[in-house]
Amino acid sequence: MDEILSLCRRRGFIFPSSEIYGGLAGFYDYGPLGCELKKNIRDAWWQDMVHRRDDIVGMDGSIIMHPGVWKASGHVDGFSDPMVDCRESKMRYRADQLFYASVEVDRQIIGYVCVLEDSSMEVAALEAAKQLKSKLPVRGELQPLQLKCYMDAPETVQKLIPSPATGTPGALTPPRAFNLMFATHVGAVCDDASAAYLRPETAQGIFVNFKNILDSVHRKLPFGVAQIGRAFRNEITPRNFIFRSREFEQMELEYFIGPDADWEDLHRQWVEERLHWHHSIGIRPELLGLQVHAKEKLAHYSRACTDITFRYPFGQQELEGIAARGNFDLTRHQEASGKSLEYFDEEMRKKYIPHVIEPSVGVDRVLLAVLCSAYGRDKIDGEERTVLRLHPRVAPIKAAIFPLVKNKPEVVLMAQDIHRQLMKRWNVAYDASGAIGRRYRRMDEVGTPFAITVDFESLENGTVTLRERDSTKQRRMDAREIMDHIADAINS
Ligand code: ATP
Repeated sequence: MDEILSLCRRRGFIFPSSEIYGGLAGFYDYGPLGCELKKNIRDAWWQDMVHRRDDIVGMDGSIIMHPGVWKASGHVDGFSDPMVDCRESKMRYRADQLFYASVEVDRQIIGYVCVLEDSSMEVAALEAAKQLKSKLPVRGELQPLQLKCYMDAPETVQKLIPSPATGTPGALTPPRAFNLMFATHVGAVCDDASAAYLRPETAQGIFVNFKNILDSVHRKLPFGVAQIGRAFRNEITPRNFIFRSREFEQMELEYFIGPDADWEDLHRQWVEERLHWHHSIGIRPELLGLQVHAKEKLAHYSRACTDITFRYPFGQQELEGIAARGNFDLTRHQEASGKSLEYFDEEMRKKYIPHVIEPSVGVDRVLLAVLCSAYGRDKIDGEERTVLRLHPRVAPIKAAIFPLVKNKPEVVLMAQDIHRQLMKRWNVAYDASGAIGRRYRRMDEVGTPFAITVDFESLENGTVTLRERDSTKQRRMDAREIMDHIADAINS
């Protein structure tokens, strides 16, 4: 993860937001290459989910919506995480991300340890247990630790659990609900009546526009509405870089189906379709997984939920959620707004509120998965290189054009001409400085799939050298074939 962070900063993918002021936890800025990569991910999703299907249309809703939307959707009352404070350090934690264990020596509890959830928490807990034992006058074998979630600790035990920040037992407050929505005010008057929220998800914008869209496109069920946009959550503990931030982007899709449709089969199809999409943009299949939510842990209105997970350097975590949500959302908005959100089914000659399958994924989490999947180091001709093996479809720069020398005007002119041609279609780079090997390395590190070199032979027969990033193989190709070659790789 550290290597990826350093690459992101060095080569202008991602910076901490407002860095010259010390940054702001949970917010990030995308630099020149990061914003290209992000745009390519968004475009790939939009092309595959909207343009290349005739049963899905798009929309782009406002970030601030009528506050009634969030009341009806249940976000005002229930969109919260359990929070605990450390009274000493003033640090805040998500109670469901804190894990504790009793430390036992010869079946006697000598105290407790508490760690933050991550892939190395067992090691951290054991270390803390050994330290605790060394400070006390006890002898004997340390029993194996059994980590449990802080949320499951009885109140009497919670009082004895140490703060992970200071190690002081009893410094943590009992868990309490913390609403994750950012509140603001609309208009000049700042009172309860003007209170509004930055949207914590894009999905509700689709539900409240269901009727508008249906009436304007006249689709038959099943049909879907897709939206890409910013979402805001005041996460208690933003962490793991852009994986959990407070401002992020979502790509959400509501696929409306009839109440009698085989929702289990449709849900299964969507899980497969979305898994396939992640493969298609270059995420390595062996790093992806599925996690089916247990029925008893689902929200009351939810029928099924499967997460597509990715093996990030900090553990296997949710990348995308695919939920079968019944007709909860539309029903709630119909009740709260008093406006009918029913669909008239001409074949069945009856009205009903459609049900929905919802694939929902964060752009930033996809981007991080793409980077982690593509990052590698290898040796070329005895020299170590860092390489991003990005799929050409998402690569920020599709090709780099190099004149072999910069003091031969004909070579430079031909290289500039190829650059101008390719620029009309894609983001491409022109680099005339330094040894050719150095120029290759610079492009490998940012994932540019092709390097095109114009040399003396090019002037004679119109061919150039095309070098492929992954294999580093070079071959001569007619300059007129380059455009098709890159297009084929992007569409593969
Ligand atoms: P988590 O359990 O990780 O908090 P969630 O189940 O609350 O996620 P959803 O509400 O289902 O997430 O949101 C859909 C998608 O939006 C997630 O799968 C994820 O890709 C993305 N997402 C959610 N919260 C964040 C965040 N704080 N930062 C970045 N992406 C996020």
